[in-house]
Amino acid sequence: MSLTATSPSRDLSDTVRYALHGRAAVIFLDNPPVNGLGDTVRRGVHEGLALARADAGVDAIVIAGAGKAFCGGADIRQFNTPAATARPMLRDVIAAIEASGKPVVAAIHGFALGGGLELALGCHYRVAQAGARLGLPEVNLGLVPGGGGTQRLPRLIGVLPALEMIQSGKPLDAAAALAAGLVDAVAEGDLLDAALSYALERAHLASHPVASRRALSADGVDFSAARARVNPKARNAIAQRAAVDCVEAATRLPIEAGLDEERRLFDALVEGDASKALRHLFFAEKEAPRVSGGGRAGEVGRVGILGAGTMGGGIAMAFSNAGYSVTLYERDQAALDRGMALIRKNYEITAAKGKLDAAGVEARLARIAPSLDLQDLAPADLVIEAVFEDMAVKQAVFRQLDAVCKPGAILATNTSRLNIDEIAACTARPEAVIGLHFFSPANVMKLLEVVRGARTGADVIATCMAVAQKIGKIPVLVGVCEGFVGNRMLTGYWREAGFLLEEGASPQQIDGALTRFGMAMGPLAMADLAGMDINWATRKRLAPTRPAHLRYSKVADRICELGRFGQKTQAGYYRYEPGSRQPLPDPVVDGIIEECAREAGIVRRPVSDEEIVERCMLALVNEGARIIEEGIAQRASDVDVVYVHGYGFPGARGGPMFYAQTLGLAATLEKIRALQRVHGGHWAPAALLEHRVEEGATVF
Ligand code: NAD
Repeated sequence: MSLTATSPSRDLSDTVRYALHGRAAVIFLDNPPVNGLGDTVRRGVHEGLALARADAGVDAIVIAGAGKAFCGGADIRQFNTPAATARPMLRDVIAAIEASGKPVVAAIHGFALGGGLELALGCHYRVAQAGARLGLPEVNLGLVPGGGGTQRLPRLIGVLPALEMIQSGKPLDAAAALAAGLVDAVAEGDLLDAALSYALERAHLASHPVASRRALSADGVDFSAARARVNPKARNAIAQRAAVDCVEAATRLPIEAGLDEERRLFDALVEGDASKALRHLFFAEKEAPRVSGGGRAGEVGRVGILGAGTMGGGIAMAFSNAGYSVTLYERDQAALDRGMALIRKNYEITAAKGKLDAAGVEARLARIAPSLDLQDLAPADLVIEAVFEDMAVKQAVFRQLDAVCKPGAILATNTSRLNIDEIAACTARPEAVIGLHFFSPANVMKLLEVVRGARTGADVIATCMAVAQKIGKIPVLVGVCEGFVGNRMLTGYWREAGFLLEEGASPQQIDGALTRFGMAMGPLAMADLAGMDINWATRKRLAPTRPAHLRYSKVADRICELGRFGQKTQAGYYRYEPGSRQPLPDPVVDGIIEECAREAGIVRRPVSDEEIVERCMLALVNEGARIIEEGIAQRASDVDVVYVHGYGFPGARGGPMFYAQTLGLAATLEKIRALQRVHGGHWAPAALLEHRVEEGATVF
């Protein structure tokens, strides 16, 4: 017998089948892709249980999943809809299982996650296939388990292991679950056979174990300490603390009251902005790699990289980590040696943290072949250029690559801002040229902006989106413009920060207000980290195109004119002690700010934190809306993915475009218009925002 066996079965609902196997009934969840526990699944299982319990020919019941897994949990698309609360709820289904005199066994293959594991916890026994994963990942969506998981899991495996599982959201594999007491048996062979035998062997027993009736001891567990250990910066901090509340409730309250308390906390979270934001991101991240245009992804075997500097080295590591063979080319031996030494050092740091063993370090290094001969890039299927950010240098490199690389090879540039079309125009194969904009450190940051040029081929785009996912990145397809999506939006964000300095805020106040809002770093500390000289060069390059009538803050230029480029020169918006990354206030900068304000005729005033957050955030939102309107991003949620994964935007706020939606699009437009009245032209509202508000839309 196998999980896909078509023994005579009947449909109990669109998503649940019922079959008899001898003296056992099998209830199959059949709701692709992951058997989510939507309303029809819950109703079908409830009905199946009633049938099996009433049938004198049935001695035991197995609940199993069709397809690739037992059950992936609640159907999160139904959250905040009436279907989510339609009876029977999961709690009613589990009550029916617990009331059954006939043993009910969960047959778990693939995974049992979230509500799927809660359903299994409600069963008398759990038999898992070797390799199956069991977990309660609700915290990742800013939630706590809402179907009894926080009450039953501690009763089965103990308070501390349960807290760890619920707070981390990390699943256990079948072997670990067996050791923890979460499953009763692991099946090496056919799971359904094993589960049926397990159930029938126990059919004669007078009673069966019910997790919710087990005694629970919380001896020595310090719940306050567990709450205090939650990282307040974690995107799901609220949910993690609520998870502690739930488990504590399990130790204090009888089961029914504990389930009520869990549900109360779940309902509060599901209605809250933080969980809505995290659920938005969950879908946004899944959606991001999807592109229209119908290209076919080709195979990438060997990867070539030019430039072993900050980015080239990180990109080489990202590919090597995923098992790709990499050729890393540099223009001279010293630069190549420096680059390879840094890669080795980075791997050794990872090993020192216990995340990689010595063999792992050597294997990763062995996959990166250093080279001073451009011919070595000839066999590469994908070549990524990460040399200096200078159009003439990049064009020269692309001419050489065009001559050397095999036909069909993809030629990519890691440029942060330069025009891909101008680079492509230097080659005889513009359809093969694309931007792959990695973020620093490239072996860590998950975001990849895939920049499509005017002539980039659909297959080339599809290949790059696929390869990005193979190396663990979230690719977002963007169009050519100054700074693409992420860096283009930064321009307005930094512009407002500069204006706010002149108007009366200090660097510390601006960075403090935005980090309290949730940004990983404030804009000025971030400029110091990235290197102020890079933006300075961009401003100089763009100066001829800057409209003369628009206000311009000279603060950043003046700081750079003193040779202060940020952390690398131990001075930028802040000063830095040797060897330290700690930004310290600097009176020199205060003086520059006061001087710039005086020259611009600005009378400095107290600026509130609220104004700082509003102006910096709305600058992001307005530019984001223009980017969507121009088709530079495929969708609003892609802009959110870029900001959360590339720029330290707080996940619990869902990204700038989602944040605007939580403010309300009409309210956002109203605020932008008010800023336009006071501050003028920079604040012309994006046409898309105006249109969406005219249409009465609540989303972009
Ligand atoms: P870097 O100065 O650290 O490294 C550039 C490397 O390229 C140097 O090692 C240099 O020797 C080498 N190089 C120069 N010309 C070469 C040539 N003709 N052939 C081979 N090697 C050559 O610079 P980086 O920070 O790694 O930036 C590289 C590219 O990545 C730039 O286009 C930059 O805009 C982009 N980028 C940088 C970041 C970042 O945060 N640093 C982020 C995203 C993108």
